[in-house]
Amino acid sequence: MALSEFALIERYFRNCGVSRQDVTLGVGDDAALLAVTPGCTLVAAADTLVAGVHFPPDSPPASVGHRALAVNLSDLAAMGARPAWALLALTLPEAAETWLGEFASGLCALARAHSVALVGGDTTCGPLCVTVSLLGHVPAGQALRRSGGHAGDALFVSGTPGDAAAGLALEQGRLQAPDAARSWLRERFLLPTPRMALGERLRAYASACIDVSDGLLGDVGKLAAASRVGAQLDHGALPLSQALLEAVGEAHARELALTGGDDYELCFAVPPDNLTRLLSELPPERWGYTRIGVLRDAVGVDVVRDGTVMEFSHSGYEHFA
Ligand code: ADP
Ligand code: MG
Repeated sequence: MALSEFALIERYFRNCGVSRQDVTLGVGDDAALLAVTPGCTLVAAADTLVAGVHFPPDSPPASVGHRALAVNLSDLAAMGARPAWALLALTLPEAAETWLGEFASGLCALARAHSVALVGGDTTCGPLCVTVSLLGHVPAGQALRRSGGHAGDALFVSGTPGDAAAGLALEQGRLQAPDAARSWLRERFLLPTPRMALGERLRAYASACIDVSDGLLGDVGKLAAASRVGAQLDHGALPLSQALLEAVGEAHARELALTGGDDYELCFAVPPDNLTRLLSELPPERWGYTRIGVLRDAVGVDVVRDGTVMEFSHSGYEHFA
């Protein structure tokens, strides 16, 4: 690399995100030293984005940086956790300064927005690949899990799933859309919004939670299986954005909402006893979530339209299918 590894780290990553009191030692030594908040459980997640697999290789670099952190933030949101520290393992074909500057600005802006400090990482030469590890806190015993749901719990999803899948199709030239719809959908793919505040608040209401990254239908299936129950989704209740409807029409929009990937929304179950409190204390129109179905005893996930169970050929993105 033309730029030395040391200079690259100093220039782009030493002061990335916020500076935090609980970082005893950050970038620069062999490892970071972090002071864990007493009374909290440490929550840890890691996710890799491979060029050509998880994003188009010519994606805007700021989007690659944003998404690399956003996918991990979304995992912490699903646990009801608050993020604190990130590590970045970056594999680059070359030390291209323009690319690095934009990548770092996308990553660091999102880190600042969520009070995250970048405390270390690794930098290597090879095919473009970005791994972020994220650490955070949740009050001991209060983390949300996939496995806490019961038959009878209501199922909700945040945001408007399906948008990101359409945004990716637009990026790749597989779909055309009017300008307004196009810019909304592309942004939902390029710059997803992890639902951090919602995740933390849901600790007081939800029995189970998962982040929707591989398609709503498949991810509901994972939550239901972990909770040892099944689920029924109401096809007509799926929340659809105006942009998605304009771009692909209603039938395809509902299919994308169920099976498209990269949404980074939250899907959560709420016991009947907590419903009234949830709906009054976190008004759905203000917090941006919608009731889409119910957990039930019978295993498997059914999508019901006008009283009839629909057939689906695929239930989300399978990396090794
Ligand atoms: P070592 O060879 O001892 O692992 P490195 O040269 O890989 O040291 O890293 C030096 C310091 O820079 C370490 O503190 C490491 O955590 C940090 N670091 C390396 N790459 C990155 C990166 N991409 N982002 C943030 N910190 C990094
Ligand atoms: Mg190293």
